[in-house]
Amino acid sequence: MIIVMKPEALQEEKEEVINKIKELGYKPHVIHGTTRDVIGAVGDERGKFILQSLECLSGVEKVVPILKPYKLASKEVKKEPTMIKITDSVSIGGRKIVVIAGPCAIENEDQIIKVALAVKEAGADILRGGAYKPRTSPYTFQGLKEEGLKLLAKAREISGLPVVTEVLNPETAELVAEYSDILQIGTRNSQNYELLKKVGQLKKPVLLKRGMSMTIQELLMSAEYILSEGNQSVILCERGIRTFETKTRNTLDLSAIPVLKEETHLPVIVDPSHGTGYAKYVPPMSFAAIAAGADGIMIEVHPDPEKALSDGQQSLIPSKFSEMMEKLKAFIIAVDRDK
Ligand code: PEP
Ligand code: MN
Repeated sequence: MIIVMKPEALQEEKEEVINKIKELGYKPHVIHGTTRDVIGAVGDERGKFILQSLECLSGVEKVVPILKPYKLASKEVKKEPTMIKITDSVSIGGRKIVVIAGPCAIENEDQIIKVALAVKEAGADILRGGAYKPRTSPYTFQGLKEEGLKLLAKAREISGLPVVTEVLNPETAELVAEYSDILQIGTRNSQNYELLKKVGQLKKPVLLKRGMSMTIQELLMSAEYILSEGNQSVILCERGIRTFETKTRNTLDLSAIPVLKEETHLPVIVDPSHGTGYAKYVPPMSFAAIAAGADGIMIEVHPDPEKALSDGQQSLIPSKFSEMMEKLKAFIIAVDRDK
């Protein structure tokens, strides 16, 4: 249910509503809107109509049911887009298109610092790099783990770019959160509900990738796991799904962007590197993602893709990334967004 407060509701009146929601056995979530606050009450669907009684409290304008299964992620609860602040100068979900770039995996100090400076120079806003790598084969490079986090922190300091890196399990989530500005949940973990709950309890923005066989509704339900734990900062990422097509690594579902924009207030970004699997297809699909309404893109960049320990085939060299960034500007202007 959504408890819509009157625009002039007092703080005490909001607190009274919050306490009553708790008394009735539901979990309150305050969502600050531009003109008024709304309070989402989530919990057992079966008895929710008892919340209707809150309508008689002063400060409450109306109580309405949320019809979608994803409650806090839905536009029913919040119509305005959510803007997620990463640092004082970087936010995702506002007018500015955000570009995240960096290697698939952090391999050594020289590599991550070289890429960090190169992508910054080309205009990227956030540096990516995996320290804990979820690999299909247990015999391939698994990431530098904590050592990788330390190198990422160094690259962050030298470049001034905020960083995003993947969290593989609840046990290491807090450690990763100490080093990273954004926690990435990868495609293979996007329905790992214990992990989703864990990052929902941490105070760091979460970049949630779409599972490779996940419907859009399931993606929103996974986001709901994070939101319902109290973490309102979730960025959704379309990264391609499994289809019968073999010419690309995955099928990048760009139609997910307008659909998600219709359904949720959360920001949506696109990862055309994993979405296509080939460096040469990354620029056209990046342009298409922006044209379709994405709030940003995430691109793999490596100084020497042939020697990369993971995903070299889909990684752009810095000069190609820089070229792509130049061409991207026209698309950003075309959709009336900021660079
Ligand atoms: C990655 O970003 O390097 C990654 C492993 O992505 P995904 O989870 O989308 O495969
Ligand atoms: Mn990768």
